[in-house]
Amino acid sequence: TKFSELKLHPKVLKAVEEAGYETPTPIQAGAIPPALEGRDVLGIAQTGTGKTAGFVLPMITMLARGRARARMPRSLVLCPTRELAAQVAENFDTYAKHVKLTKALLIGGVSFKEQDTLIDKGVDVLIATPGRLLDHFERGKLILSDVKVMVVDEADRMLDMGFIPDIEKIFGLTPFTRQTLFFSATMAPEIERITNTFLSNPARVEV
Ligand code: AMP
Repeated sequence: TKFSELKLHPKVLKAVEEAGYETPTPIQAGAIPPALEGRDVLGIAQTGTGKTAGFVLPMITMLARGRARARMPRSLVLCPTRELAAQVAENFDTYAKHVKLTKALLIGGVSFKEQDTLIDKGVDVLIATPGRLLDHFERGKLILSDVKVMVVDEADRMLDMGFIPDIEKIFGLTPFTRQTLFFSATMAPEIERITNTFLSNPARVEV
């Protein structure tokens, strides 16, 4: 498979070329087509496989049209740690550099004020750790009824860190009609249970 065959937005393709990538990795070749068709995706992949671009590239393509309204993010990416969330945000900046999309990074250890300002302006891609996202929600600052795509990254680490109840809560706050892209390095029984509960006929991509 070539990137040019993946039906990505031309401006996303341009950013990928500028990043110097020649061919999609297996997780990208497997996850991007069903994601662009609007399907849920269950990606079983370790870090280092290119899984971040596997969900960021289709998200940018799908969100390139339209604008977020104030306090109503159009997509969510949930990450287990601040560091991982920051890495996803960096990836987003690289691949979205030719499209006009807004992003916000909601992680702990940073004042709420700056994050509030971004949320108020409207966010196309909200990248967050689960606890911080729920903090904002409980403060009444965030409305999740316009979320079209939700990503769970490194679900197995979420499990290790005790975040599964938070993830379930967040799933429950987003519309049933959302698309879910779910990534985990392993499929522990608890992870299997969550995917059976919250994913709808997912394309299963294992690398
Ligand atoms: P990840 O598994 O998402 O953490 O990505 C691992 C590394 O692979 C990152 O440094 C990416 O910039 C790089 N990468 C992602 N996709 C490709 C690709 N198709 N070709 C070459 N490098 C890539």
